[in-house]
Amino acid sequence: MATKTAVSKILQISKDCLFPIFCLGCDKEGEWVCADCFGKIDLRGVFYCPVCYRPNGNGACCAVCQPQSCLDRAVAIAVYQEENLVGKLIKALKYNYAEEIIAVFAKMIDGFLIHQLGVLSEIDLIVPVPLHRRRFAERGFNQARLLADILGQKIGRPVVDLLKRDRYTLQQAKLSREERQLNVHHAFVNSDFRANAVLLVDDVFTTGATMQECARVLKSSGVKRVIGFSVARG
Ligand SMILES: [Zn+2]
Ligand SMILES: [Zn+2]
Repeated sequence: MATKTAVSKILQISKDCLFPIFCLGCDKEGEWVCADCFGKIDLRGVFYCPVCYRPNGNGACCAVCQPQSCLDRAVAIAVYQEENLVGKLIKALKYNYAEEIIAVFAKMIDGFLIHQLGVLSEIDLIVPVPLHRRRFAERGFNQARLLADILGQKIGRPVVDLLKRDRYTLQQAKLSREERQLNVHHAFVNSDFRANAVLLVDDVFTTGATMQECARVLKSSGVKRVIGFSVARG
């Protein structure tokens, strides 16, 4: 046992020497995000209407936008910009998966829930936005699933992969070209499942097109309310 610990220590030291990590915020060596930079991330939450971006207290879709939205609410932890620290973290997670980056997101989720646990109280099931099979094969993981698992542990709700991306499962012929590109890549995989309020999880919400499409599929399968959750919102 002692030998094993010694070996893993040596391996960790070698890894640190061969692949040193620099803070994505300030370039200081040692961590993906140093304590100083982490302390500067605003974790109080981003609550905008999913359609028109009007700010409000819980991310609810405003009445006039409801006909255009399958998402009842959109909740995010922090503001997304390609070049801000959160944007760099999301990019780092996608392109070089590291458990340490997931740990930073877990800390962000903790910080957010301290302020905003109440906004997730209605949830009874957590569903990650699915990754296309080819992407999954390239990357080896679905970052939305990893985030959904962290949330599930923290708020004590089950996580189920109810959706998949598959271009051949829906009737493409009935859709326009744009709808086909946007819409047909998702399908419901478990029609026996019943849930009132689903938390749909992704890493980032930019145009909202993917989340809206997933929400549409969930609702057409009997889910009553869909709340989008992303670490960051553009
Ligand atoms: Zn830093
Ligand atoms: Zn609106």
